[in-house]
Amino acid sequence: MIQRTPARIEARNEEPVADVTVGPEPSCAAEQSWQQILAESVTSPAQLLARLGLPQEPWLQGANAGHQLFPVRVPEPFIRRMQHGNSNDPLLRQVLPVADEALHQAGYVRDPLEESSAIQTTGLIRKYESRALLMVTGQCAINCRYCFRRHFPYDDQRLGPEDRQQVLSSLHASPNINEVIFSGGDPLAVNDRLLAQWARALAEVPHIKRLRIHSRLPVVIPQRVCDELLNWLRESPLQKVLVVHVNHPAELDAQTSRAFSRLRDAGVTLLNQSVILKGVNDSVNTLAKLSEDLFASGVLPYYLHAFDPVSGAHHFDVSDRNAAALVAELMTRLPGFLVPKLVRELPGKASKTPIAINGLPVHYTTD
Ligand code: SF4
Repeated sequence: MIQRTPARIEARNEEPVADVTVGPEPSCAAEQSWQQILAESVTSPAQLLARLGLPQEPWLQGANAGHQLFPVRVPEPFIRRMQHGNSNDPLLRQVLPVADEALHQAGYVRDPLEESSAIQTTGLIRKYESRALLMVTGQCAINCRYCFRRHFPYDDQRLGPEDRQQVLSSLHASPNINEVIFSGGDPLAVNDRLLAQWARALAEVPHIKRLRIHSRLPVVIPQRVCDELLNWLRESPLQKVLVVHVNHPAELDAQTSRAFSRLRDAGVTLLNQSVILKGVNDSVNTLAKLSEDLFASGVLPYYLHAFDPVSGAHHFDVSDRNAAALVAELMTRLPGFLVPKLVRELPGKASKTPIAINGLPVHYTTD
């Protein structure tokens, strides 16, 4: 989550986060609500190191420097999937700041996708002909160190009542748009009442057929998939697609599986997008297991994004050549439908750009 101001989320009670095993179906009003879990997230490097049983040195000084640039936020269910005492844990690497974040590297910039030039009206980004991104919130449940929007000026895109009307007018006047993507930040960090209002308003735009949601919340806090969320999803006449964001198979467990199953039962198509990240998932074994485990949970691998050159995160960069070699090997291991498309988003292009493999455009011809 790209949150520069404290979360305005009220804890329902003062209970510490309990051991969340697979229990009753979550309700947003439950004692252990997702809002409570979110409010109790770890928000300092020292707290995160202590929680993982790691010594403060040699990590704390560098982590604090990165934390000043982009604050730490990690919810407890995600921390529980990390290996205690392992400073190289692939989930920890995604969230623990390092000293390198403060280094300036040529070619790494604040807005690598030049999204600021694609803002159509406050809160609405139009990069592609038939899809528009609605920046529902700047808040996330987790702050991923590699995020290409880690410098995004969310405060400028905050949607007030007049802006909402402007967004809807703009969508009504754009007959080529048939899909709206709830984005952010993490759109599921917003309460269901507001999301349901948006979904109802979008369903009244005749040419909008699909609602897509890009969210890490069902993974990092599976309790987010509660009855209230499922109710408005079920009721919406739009086709619903939820693209989760999982980079490593250790992010998946029985709770995420159950959350995915409930979403599918509510008529939601589930896809996954990952980012190829050095030290996290840049191995064919990891990527193959990720695809297998996602599919076993009812989620289809969709995109493997090349790293976007955002300043402060160069240490995650994997060259296109290495990424392509990994995917070429992945194609020899997996059926074609489990191989995510390796793509890069280039500013100003009308679609994602496939990355060539072995000098050829990518085609998924394995059976
Ligand atoms: S990758 Fe997604 S969840 Fe992570 S910080 Fe960026 S917008 Fe938030």
